[in-house]
Amino acid sequence: MLMDSSGLAESLELLKQNNLYRSRRVIDSVRGVNVLVDGRELINFCSNDYLGLASHPDVVASFRRAANQYGVGSGSAHLVCGHGREHHALEDELAEFTGRDRALLFSTGYMANLGVITALMGKGDVIYQDRLNHASLLDGGLMSGARFKRYLHKDMHNLQQKMHIQSPGQKAMIVTDGVFSMDGDYAPLQALSALAQRQAAYLMVDDAHGFGVLGATGAGLVEQCQLNQQQVPVLVGTLGKAFGTSGAFVAGSDVLIESIIQKARSYIYTTALPPAIAAATRTSLLYVKQDNWRRDKLKKLVQRFQAGVRQIGLSLMPSESAIQPIMLGGSQQAVQASDYLFQQGFWVSAIRPPTVPQGSARLRITFSALHNEQQVDQLLSALEYLPV
Ligand SMILES: *Cc1c(COP(=O)(O)O)cnc(C)c1O
Repeated sequence: MLMDSSGLAESLELLKQNNLYRSRRVIDSVRGVNVLVDGRELINFCSNDYLGLASHPDVVASFRRAANQYGVGSGSAHLVCGHGREHHALEDELAEFTGRDRALLFSTGYMANLGVITALMGKGDVIYQDRLNHASLLDGGLMSGARFKRYLHKDMHNLQQKMHIQSPGQKAMIVTDGVFSMDGDYAPLQALSALAQRQAAYLMVDDAHGFGVLGATGAGLVEQCQLNQQQVPVLVGTLGKAFGTSGAFVAGSDVLIESIIQKARSYIYTTALPPAIAAATRTSLLYVKQDNWRRDKLKKLVQRFQAGVRQIGLSLMPSESAIQPIMLGGSQQAVQASDYLFQQGFWVSAIRPPTVPQGSARLRITFSALHNEQQVDQLLSALEYLPV
């Protein structure tokens, strides 16, 4: 029988034995960071809604208004008849916000990364990626057919060595997360930009976790490092994290964006985002720009957490961002720790291979501007008795 020879059941069993089996918890309701999950009231410490905008009443109202005007779905791909006024206006606003000529919306960050890399790079070219880059960047690199080289995490020396053997005239691209999604640390963007310019390589930065959170106006790590379009020519941001909505964009020069429109298959062959999502995101953008208090509060909560963790004697990873992982090593420890916190009323996910390298399973704790100090202290008290 097919089922017996396919080995599917056996490989599921193996995942379970190795504590690598993944399952979903069902959410019944959400009020900011308070969630009802599997019948339990929990405080959510694993969402990427860093600024708490997903539930902002004005963002929700914009969504509702646009759904009434345009319907729920976009009805088609952007290049057929799915590109609406709300999408177009959001693209203009994102371009202005990031200081780029133009921006182009994608339905998800995963698809943006596949589309951008495959549109720009192909057989005969070479791509350099940080070994801890997000899966969508790695997949885009593999899919492009370009030669694919991974360098040690944030290691400029290692990257330089690899680039040294690049053939003259060969098209090259350096690709990096801005804020690393599972570690929370920052890419050395200034050094990467200087190296890319010296080597005449593209630099692509995916700032999914910095966008909205970092920089004076929330325009991300690229703003914090003061890097313009020439210094970071390919900039990707996502909308499902700090912006609290859904989707993603790439920003850059006019000719870059036009090329991606013509060539990116994950742009061309898919239904456009719902226009109501674009409308909600435009409202989100207003709050990202004006609500400095959200970024300030987030920073304070993170500092309070870091000080508390040091007191307990657990070790932190070198992250200044809203992502504060606690490294446990084994997958079993990570799962046990996550289950224990769940019992204590905190939702913190265990991150295991292959999302992170072997032996580096961890708790990935994230903070939101909607948390309060008391909730952070409660989490710290629970962490003090972590069964590890
Ligand atoms: C979340 C994430 C993505 C994917 O974005 P989606 O919109 O969720 O598909 C891409 N890159 C990084 C670094 C991410 O953290």
